[in-house]
Amino acid sequence: MTDMTKHAVVIAGAGPTGLMLAGELALARVDVAIVERRESQDLPDARARAGGLHSRTIEVLDQRGVAERFLSQGQVMQVAGFAMIRLDISDFPTRHNYGLALAQSQIERVLAAWVEELQVPIYRGLEVTAFAQDETGVEIQVSDGRSLRARYLVGCDGGRSLVRKQAGIDFPGWEPSISYLMAECAMSEEPAWGMRPDDRGVNGLGKLEDGKRVRVLLNERQVMRGDEPSLDDLRRALIAVYGTDFGVHDVTWLSRFSDAARQAASYRERRVLLAGDAAHVHGPTGGQGLNIGVQDAVNLGWKLARVVSGTAPESLLDTYQTERHPIGARVLKLTLAQTALMRGDERTKALHENMSELLKLDEPRKRYGAMMSGLDIHYDLGAGHPLLGRRMPDLDLVTESGPRRVFALLHDARPVLLNLGDPDSLDIAPWAERVRWLNAQYTGSWQLPVLGPVAAPAAVLIRPDGYVAWVGNGTDQGLHDALSSWFGPPDQR
Ligand SMILES: Cc1cc2nc3c(=O)[nH]c(=O)nc-3n(C[C@H](O)[C@H](O)[C@H](O)COP(=O)(O)OP(=O)(O)OC[C@H]3O[C@@H](n4cnc5c(N)ncnc54)[C@H](O)[C@@H]3O)c2cc1C
Repeated sequence: MTDMTKHAVVIAGAGPTGLMLAGELALARVDVAIVERRESQDLPDARARAGGLHSRTIEVLDQRGVAERFLSQGQVMQVAGFAMIRLDISDFPTRHNYGLALAQSQIERVLAAWVEELQVPIYRGLEVTAFAQDETGVEIQVSDGRSLRARYLVGCDGGRSLVRKQAGIDFPGWEPSISYLMAECAMSEEPAWGMRPDDRGVNGLGKLEDGKRVRVLLNERQVMRGDEPSLDDLRRALIAVYGTDFGVHDVTWLSRFSDAARQAASYRERRVLLAGDAAHVHGPTGGQGLNIGVQDAVNLGWKLARVVSGTAPESLLDTYQTERHPIGARVLKLTLAQTALMRGDERTKALHENMSELLKLDEPRKRYGAMMSGLDIHYDLGAGHPLLGRRMPDLDLVTESGPRRVFALLHDARPVLLNLGDPDSLDIAPWAERVRWLNAQYTGSWQLPVLGPVAAPAAVLIRPDGYVAWVGNGTDQGLHDALSSWFGPPDQR
């Protein structure tokens, strides 16, 4: 029987980030468990109604062979936008040249089912309440009095992360400039349907699926805090915007969020790591939070797995911070800019109109479309071929065993060396246990988002997260260094 109190990795929080990370670790055969405060995957607040996957997130799910589970439940559409200016990415060189509208509650359910298939234990209805680190691991206190032992603890426990606070990691940033109420309710008078921007931001009253009940989005006159707004707060905000509360009653759901933006100063404190909202929070405009959380998890998962299994040094974890912290910082800035652009005073409206004009031009549309959909991510892995540090495109390959998609090669979250040149010209025998190696042919053109066509490489080393770690020019120059630094020193035979 397995020991319920000992795991290689414990994750605090089974939101989208924690679930994705658990899946990644389980694929790498790491003994991982999640501690989750909620009894079920149901969401109590505004996040239940949030939702949307951007193109790169759909791609990373496709790399694990599970994208279809999400696509079949949501609605494929152009979701990328900047301050509500739509950015059409349908001409982008990706199989998923669109986003997906799907409620976060459903996204979490699909992720939870996947993690269950991978047999990750989730200790539900329990909180991580404290922890202490020592030389070899972390002792984690759980709310039922139990204590768990893990080699690493990952805080995927959301914006108010206890793990972040207890690790003493600073969370600097910007105070909220606006707070919003979201609600679902009935109204005895006919409401003023549609969007109504004002000088602070947007407001809107929309019909729910039954055509009668109302979905409400209101910015509040004064910035308010607290997750649990009252019916009076809702009435007051309605009257402030519309001059009436339309006889609001039967509120089945009411929630508040703000545009506060903060980022953890460090994503790691020895054996404790942070990912998702625990590492960065910002307003929901642009729909980035869940997406970058899931992608944090995909960046961290394989690295942590290698460190835990002893095939890579602990310093590999530093690259998680170097690669993902700038992405979080960029999203914070993009969100601040959008909040500013969405104020409805005349001057800001004029600025918004100008920005809309600008984003209709091809080059700005592509740049911003790629940024908002996550397709332009470039980890700085040094100078070289443009593919280096960028996402590997999902090419249709011809291999010795028939046609294969690149993403299908990544399903088990192992690195892949793809030799597209002279067959068997590369020798990676000392890494053969760790890196999948294959000869393939590809005759089409190589296209990257924003950059356009790039020179065809002779070989590529693809990390488990789908980013290119090395590009070959017909020789193995630099290959062994890249293999050693990402996947550990060569096996001694
Ligand atoms: C109105 C709104 C709209 C949004 N729209 C979008 C959108 O369209 N697209 C997008 O990408 N993002 C959107 N977001 C952001 C998105 O909801 C978050 O970024 C996302 O939930 C972050 O996921 P997470 O797993 O990191 O954290 P969370 O979802 O916050 O999950 C943290 C989990 O940890 C648990 N937990 C907390 N403390 C403990 C503890 N001590 N012990 C054990 N468990 C604990 C919690 O119960 C929770 O399940 C929106 C947010 C809001 C408010």
